[in-house]
Amino acid sequence: MKSAIQKHIALISVHGDPAIEIGKEEAGGQNVYVRQVGEALAKQGWKVDMFTRRASSEQATVVEHAENCRTIRLTAGPAEFVPRDNIFGYAPEFVEQFLKFQKQSGIQYQIVHTNYWISSWVGMELNKIQGTKQVHTYHSLGAVKYKSISTIPLISKTRLGVEKAVLETAETIVATSPQEKEHMRALVSSKGNIDIIPCGTDVERFGSVEREEARQQLGIDPETKVIFYVGRFDQRKGIETLVRAVSQSQLRGKTPLKLIIGGGSRPGQSDGLERDRIESIVNELGMSSFTSFPGNLDHEILPTYYAAADVCVVPSHYEPFGLVAIEAMASGTPVVASDVGGLQFTVVPGETGLLAPAKDEVAFAAAIDQIISNPTWRNKLGEAAKHRVRTKFSWDGVASQLSDLYIDLLQQPVKVPASVVSTKVAASAVSA
Ligand code: UDP
Repeated sequence: MKSAIQKHIALISVHGDPAIEIGKEEAGGQNVYVRQVGEALAKQGWKVDMFTRRASSEQATVVEHAENCRTIRLTAGPAEFVPRDNIFGYAPEFVEQFLKFQKQSGIQYQIVHTNYWISSWVGMELNKIQGTKQVHTYHSLGAVKYKSISTIPLISKTRLGVEKAVLETAETIVATSPQEKEHMRALVSSKGNIDIIPCGTDVERFGSVEREEARQQLGIDPETKVIFYVGRFDQRKGIETLVRAVSQSQLRGKTPLKLIIGGGSRPGQSDGLERDRIESIVNELGMSSFTSFPGNLDHEILPTYYAAADVCVVPSHYEPFGLVAIEAMASGTPVVASDVGGLQFTVVPGETGLLAPAKDEVAFAAAIDQIISNPTWRNKLGEAAKHRVRTKFSWDGVASQLSDLYIDLLQQPVKVPASVVSTKVAASAVSA
């Protein structure tokens, strides 16, 4: 029965280009998710086209990643970097370009999987125009995010409206953790279908390097206790909490410590400013001699850093899933993370790491010390962490759950959309 189905899927990620360098501002988990899901689906027999917005005139229009897996860049708005809060006004143009691409290529997608709220609107429009079925992953929920920041952007009202509409109208919403599903129900709407399919990680890549070999490669001696962070420089990532926690470590001055803060940044941009702010706190607390900022770490070198670390810290104020936690765990490194969102799902306290209240530097210091001062326990946590990720969070496993979902939806008749947000919302956002 399955052979009658055209296994052709469009993954839409308007602002998160799956083909660009990860680790810069606005390039993080979503880009990784779309790219990895795309490649894993292609291995499972799907034809995968990943659509994104062109953000520079030098970017190729089509990037082939693997057989049957490519990124297609559509021109919608200026061919330059536009912060995500300002992209929504170009969504109607994105829809137009998508339809044009379909016409020129002779492909009509029966199903799209949209990522982040801007793309969700594109999916709802395609449903309205041509009955395309829609699966959606939020990656971040406005209703959660706006609770934790002081300056609410202009776009917030539109975003909250779109996020509610997609939950109520898409065929299926993919929540990446039970915690994310609860937030959708409590803060967005009680209507709509939600499936839980987690994010994944490359369990062959992360876990491929041995600790001693990693330390040798990075020039770190075996006695040093290595505390590692990697991710975007964004205040919501809570790097300040980590730095303040390490400054209070009971081991400071007794055991050699090394704090590594990895992640790319651009001078003068918001990530560059956050990096400067963090560096100045490091200097103020007298930690510069044992703290390093290696910059953007790509997925070739990242397994070495995770393997070299005694503990990986994810101090985010909120995290819908948190790929870094499972990458570290897959590498056999225990995680100390904030007791929030998807981190409560991935990190099992006392088994694969420890959880501490977000922003609580005293609790983070205690948790980090507890792990790094007990190497036997540390190794036990690391082993259990690796096992948990290998059995629950591989991209191949995630992709096969998504594949089953898409096949299920493709077999169902097209339903008439109940309600969709009109193009007028986008038009008014342009003029806002
Ligand atoms: N990342 C990377 N190099 C860096 C910084 C981050 O490859 O220098 C990757 C990291 O490995 C992970 C992703 O970016 O795959 C971050 O995803 P996460 O869900 O942890 O956070 P987000 O960026 O989505 O908030």
